[in-house]
Amino acid sequence: MNSTVQANRENPTGIARKQVEIAAAYMDIESWVVRRLLVTNREVTINVPVKMDDGELKIFRAYRVQHCDLRGPYKGGIRYHPEADLDEVRALAMLMTWKSAVVNIPFGGAKGGVQCDPKTMSQAELERMTRRFTWEISPVIGPERDIPAPDVSTNPQVMAWIMDTYSILKGNTVPGVVTGKPLELGGSLGRFEATGKGVFLTTLEAAAHLGIPVQGMRVVIQGSGNVGGVAALFFHRAGAKVIAMSDSKGGVYNPQGLDVEAVLACKDQYACVIGPRVEGEDITNAELLELECEVLAPCALSGVLTAQNAARVKARIVAEGANGPTTPEADDILADKGVFMVPDILANAGGVTVSYFEWVQNLQNLLWSEQEISKRLSDILISAFGQVLAIAQDKKVSMRNAALILGVDRVARALKLRGIYP
Ligand code: NAD
Repeated sequence: MNSTVQANRENPTGIARKQVEIAAAYMDIESWVVRRLLVTNREVTINVPVKMDDGELKIFRAYRVQHCDLRGPYKGGIRYHPEADLDEVRALAMLMTWKSAVVNIPFGGAKGGVQCDPKTMSQAELERMTRRFTWEISPVIGPERDIPAPDVSTNPQVMAWIMDTYSILKGNTVPGVVTGKPLELGGSLGRFEATGKGVFLTTLEAAAHLGIPVQGMRVVIQGSGNVGGVAALFFHRAGAKVIAMSDSKGGVYNPQGLDVEAVLACKDQYACVIGPRVEGEDITNAELLELECEVLAPCALSGVLTAQNAARVKARIVAEGANGPTTPEADDILADKGVFMVPDILANAGGVTVSYFEWVQNLQNLLWSEQEISKRLSDILISAFGQVLAIAQDKKVSMRNAALILGVDRVARALKLRGIYP
C-alpha cells in the first residue's frame, strides 16, 4: 500500500460523534436524543477460526456493529481489510444510519469488518472465513433485522456465500438477508453500478449548481474498485475528461483524458491501473489528490484528505465516493478555499438506495427492470441533493453539515415517536 495515502485512522468514532454534535448544534434537538444517537445499539466482536490451505489454523478478528434501527432494519456493508478495527467499523455504522436517512429509505445503520488481507488468501480460504463469520453473526442478522452488503474487498460472490450459509441455517432460501448478491440469486439489476453511478449523479448536480459543464470537465478518481471504477466510466461516457485514476499500487495521469475502459481492462487483467495499453504517466496517490481539476473523487479509503494536504487540493468539487475520506481539519481548509463538498452520506448513497430496491424485490418476489431502477435511483438522489443544498443555503452551513442535519433530524424524529422502552 502506498504509505503516502495511508488512511488517517485517528479515532474514527470520535470524528463520527463530533459530526453529530456539530449538526445537533444547528438543530432544535433535546440532549437525551443526541446522547442516544451517539452510541451504538450492539457491537459484536468475534474471533473467526479458519483452517488455511496449508493445514494451519488462523484466527481472524471480526466485527458487526449495529448503530441504529429506529427507521428500519440495520443495513451496512462488510469489509475485508488488514486494518479493519472496532473503532472504524463503529464510525462507519453511524455513517450508515445518517446515509439511509438522507435518502429517506427505511433502513438503519450497521457495518461489519474482518481483519484480514484478502489479497493473500485463496478463494477457498475466503469462502471458509466468510461462512464461519456468517454463522457467528447469524443470530443478529436477517432480512427483518440486519442486512449486510459488499464493501471494500467483498463482492457478489462473498454475498452469495453469506446468503447460502444463512439459508442453510434457517432451512430455507433467504435472499433478503444480504444485498449486492449475484443476479442469479436474487441480486438486483443496477446494484453493481449503483454507488459509482450515485457519485456521478450527485456530482453532476453539484456541477450544474456551480455552472460547470460536464463536457470536458476534468475528473480525478482515487480508487478504481466498485465505486471509483464505475464512477470513472459514467464520467467518461458523459463526455467528462477523467485525467487520473489510481489503486492501492499507484496511479496513472493523462491531462488529455484517460481511456477509462482501457484502464479498467488493465486493472482486470493485471490487478493494477498502470499497464501496457494505458496511455499516461505514473503518478502517486498523494500527487493525484493535488491535481488541477474540476472534480476530485476519493473512492478508496478514509482519511486521505488531511490538514497536511488539503490546502494543496485544486479541485472545485470534492465528491466523496469513499466513506470518511476527509478529516474534519481538512474539511475546514477545503471550505475556506471555497471547494464544494458532496459529502459521503450523499455522494455514495446510491449503493444503499439500490440495496433497498433489491431487498424490496426479494421480500415481494418481484423483478424490476433496469430502467425502473435507474429512474428511481436518480429521482431519489437528485431530490436528496436538492434537500441538502436547500438546508446548506438556508442555515448557511457546509454541505456536510446540511446532510448530517437532514439525516440526524429524520432519525431523531423516529426516536422521539418511538420513545425509550420500557
Ligand atoms: P473496492 O475494494 O471495490 O475498491 C477499492 C479501491 O481502492 C481499489 O481499486 C483499491 O486498489 C483502492 N485502494 C485501496 N487502498 C488504497 C490506497 N491506500 N490508496 C489508493 N487506493 C487504494 O471497494 P469499494 O466497494 O469501491 O469501496 C471503496 C470505498 O467506497 C470505501 O470507502 C467504501 O466504504 C465506500 N463505499 C462503497 C460502497 C459500495 O457499494 N461498494 C457503498 C458506499 C461506500
